[in-house]
Formats: sequence, structure tokens, C-alpha cells
Amino acid sequence: MTGFEGKRVLVLGGSRGIGAAIVRRFAAEGAAVTFTFYGSPGAAEDVAATSGATAVRTDSADRDAVIARVRESGPLDVLVVNSGYAIFGDALDQAPDAIDHLLRVNVHAPYHAAVEAARQMPAGGRIIIIGSVNGDRMPVPGMASYALSKSALQGLARGLARDLGPRGITINVVQPGPIDTDANPEDGPMRDLMHGFMAIKRHGRPEEVAGMVAWLAGPEAGFVTGAMHTIDGAFGA
Ligand code: NDP
Repeated sequence: MTGFEGKRVLVLGGSRGIGAAIVRRFAAEGAAVTFTFYGSPGAAEDVAATSGATAVRTDSADRDAVIARVRESGPLDVLVVNSGYAIFGDALDQAPDAIDHLLRVNVHAPYHAAVEAARQMPAGGRIIIIGSVNGDRMPVPGMASYALSKSALQGLARGLARDLGPRGITINVVQPGPIDTDANPEDGPMRDLMHGFMAIKRHGRPEEVAGMVAWLAGPEAGFVTGAMHTIDGAFGA
């Protein structure tokens, strides 16, 4: 496949899981892909070596580092912000600093990366943020900060779509349901609970999410912007 030949792609958080699948998908289709990692240099090295993409260390919790990384990447055809995580547990027990850190990674980084990318992005550019079906539906306790962070991305996409549409740039949020990664392994203790909410009773694969991202980044999706795209086996239906 060569659908992204000559395209410059930056993926924030590409060393593992969904992000790694996105890196591999764009690289396999001929794009020049750079991705960031932070805590997993070994995994990043493996993704780079096997995909041909370039790995660079950048902490998505560090606003200025994120902005600098995007700026130094030059004009991007595609920006994907995938880095993100969840905190589980009683909200009354969670340290304020831990919540602020989550919001820096899950909300501040997507906002600042998207705006910085837009400064240099050409017409036809694509910004894709990995949100979560939990931005729409939170059926269990203990994940309020995560739900907050993922629903915030919906406002980000709706608002920036207005700013960037006139320049021919789209911004969209992909909202996965349970996907089999280190963060949410299909053989983990939450499996039966999550599958109970779903019409297709299995975890999704990172490659399935990468396929939706690739479509949004491609020529057929030029009229799609400011929208949320759920891929969740009907978890949220
Ligand atoms: P993983 O934990 O498997 O991978 C997370 C990726 O994000 C890693 O590459 C990690 O890099 C990177 N990352 C995390 N924190 C930082 C940071 N501070 N700076 C730079 N990179 C960082 O998670 P998933 O693949 O499961 O999740 C990816 C995205 O998808 C997240 O935004 C998540 O919220 C979302 N999502 C996942 C779902 C699931 O069921 N798996 C469901 C819905 C949404 P490194 O290890 O190098 O730090």
C-alpha cells in the first residue's frame, strides 16, 4: 500500500498499543513517520526498527516540549495525538497532582499539539486525536478524571474545526471502546464486565483503530471534521 507516499506524519505516543499500530499503518503506506515515546525506549526502538519510522523522546506531560517537538517537525500533513492514560479508583482518594498530570497528557498536549501543528500545516492537513467512548459514556465508578479528559477532546475538535476548516484542515476524534493493549489487555480482570456492555463481545485490535485513523487521514475524508468517530463494538450504544 502506498496511500501516504510523500506525506509527513507525526504520532504523539507511538511506542506501544494503538499508537504503535498507527505508526506501522502510516509507515507501511509510504509516509515519513516520526513518533514520540517517553517511558518505553525499548518498545520505541523496536517499532522504529521494524517500521522504518523515527522515534524521538518527548514527554506529553511537558507542554513546552510538546510544542517544540511539533514545531521542529516542520509542516505536517497528518498529526495524530494518541498518548494518554487512565487513573482508576475513588475520586476522593486521588491526589490532585495525579489528576493534573493526567489532564496535561490527555487534554493539554492534544490542544497545544493541534494548535502548533496548524501553524505550519498545508491545506489538506489532518489532525486526529485518540479520545475514548468514555467521552460519551462512563458506566463504572472510579474513572471520572479519564471521562473528563476524553469528553474535553470533543470540544477541542468542534472548536478547532471552525478555526481550521477555512484552510482545508480537518480535526477529528477517534473514540475506541475496549482495545487489547497493555493498558487494557483482553485477558485482564475487567474483560467480562466490559464485554457485558458490548454487542460484539471481544476487545478491538489496535490495527482496527489504525484503520479508522488512516481513513480519516486519507482523501475520502476531506468533508469530515469536528466529529467523533466511535469504534467500540457498541460499548456505548
Ligand atoms: P498503552 O498504555 O498501551 O500505550 C500508551 C502509549 O502512549 C504508549 O506508546 C506510551 O509511550 C504513550 N504515552 C503515554 N504517556 C506518555 C507521555 N507522558 N509522553 C509520551 N508518550 C506517552 O495505551 P493504549 O494503546 O491502550 O491507548 C492509547 C490511547 O487510546 C490513549 O489515549 C487511551 O486513552 C486511548 N484509548 C484506549 C483504549 C483501550 O481500551 N486500550 C480505549 C479507549 C481509548 P511510553 O510507554 O513510551 O511512555
